[in-house]
Amino acid sequence: MENLYRNSIPRLLIIVPCYNEEEVLPETINRLAEQINLLKQQQLVSVGNILLVDDGSTDGTWQIIESHAQQKREVAGLKLVHNSGHQQALWAGLEYAADRSDVTISIDADLQDDIQVIPQMLTYYLQGIDIVYGIRKERKTDTFLKRSSAQLFYKLMNGLTGNVIYNHADFRLISNRALRALLQYPERNLFLRGLVSSLGFPSAMVYYDRQKRQAGKSKYPLCKMLSFAADGITSFSVRPLQGIVLLGLLFILVSVGVIIYAIVVYWEGETIPGWTSLLVSLWLIGGSMMTAIGIIGEYIGKIYKEVKKRPRYLVDKSTKWKDNNVEERS
Ligand code: UDP
Ligand code: MG
Repeated sequence: MENLYRNSIPRLLIIVPCYNEEEVLPETINRLAEQINLLKQQQLVSVGNILLVDDGSTDGTWQIIESHAQQKREVAGLKLVHNSGHQQALWAGLEYAADRSDVTISIDADLQDDIQVIPQMLTYYLQGIDIVYGIRKERKTDTFLKRSSAQLFYKLMNGLTGNVIYNHADFRLISNRALRALLQYPERNLFLRGLVSSLGFPSAMVYYDRQKRQAGKSKYPLCKMLSFAADGITSFSVRPLQGIVLLGLLFILVSVGVIIYAIVVYWEGETIPGWTSLLVSLWLIGGSMMTAIGIIGEYIGKIYKEVKKRPRYLVDKSTKWKDNNVEERS
């Protein structure tokens, strides 16, 4: 390994947000622990830990986390008081990781992301790369609806903001340097995949086939996904607001045309018949206004949330952290 730019082998922390994942979690923990052993053998990491963030689950998720944390030195758990959402749970994990690791990898609890690419991610890190994105090559295992809505979303996002990476979700590696930069962002409305790519640190991509969810159900039904998408757009772009102005100008232009037409017709001594055209335009303009107000409302709602500066999440309890795999004295 001559071409390594980093001068020490890193301590890795894998962050896994979990919401009602009791069915899949034992398997996930075992697979990640095996992977960490391999990484140590390959000397890609010096220490490897797994942080399971329980996002206010109502099933046996926390019990599973606790019992694994007792049995395995590399497993730690953080329990949030209530369900704060995937992005906030991930943020909780990232804050926890900042002082406890040199590099983090975030991954979903359901093993849909291929952990076989982790060595490749770390190899990039060792070459001096700060952020490595996991990119889904194929989405054959997703339903048609999920696939096409996701595609539309990535296209729209990219068109509007220009910094969303196609087919990348939240499976990524972040170096401690980039993580500390990320943690300076004060916003409450989190859209991490956009935030991380806007940091601008050296980055690379690894590709994998997205697997089927190993067990349990998706926590992102269509309505939740749509609201996540809207959140992503309004967190990163003010173009919809500019769009409203354009729409307004267009309407004014149309009305000027109508006025001119009415005057011309009046001069010719006629009146305009037109109950239908009147009603259609009434509804059309009314509907457009409502939509426009709605879009503005979305942004005002965001500002409202931001100015309140409420904590992103609240921690209920955590298991004991075993730093460097040496029991901490408490
Ligand atoms: N998740 C979470 N809080 C939530 C919803 C989801 O921490 O409120 C976690 C969930 O346990 C999983 C990840 O976020 O580890 C992604 O969720 P899921 O796999 O259900 O989403 P999908 O892959 O279907 O988009
Ligand atoms: Mg999933």
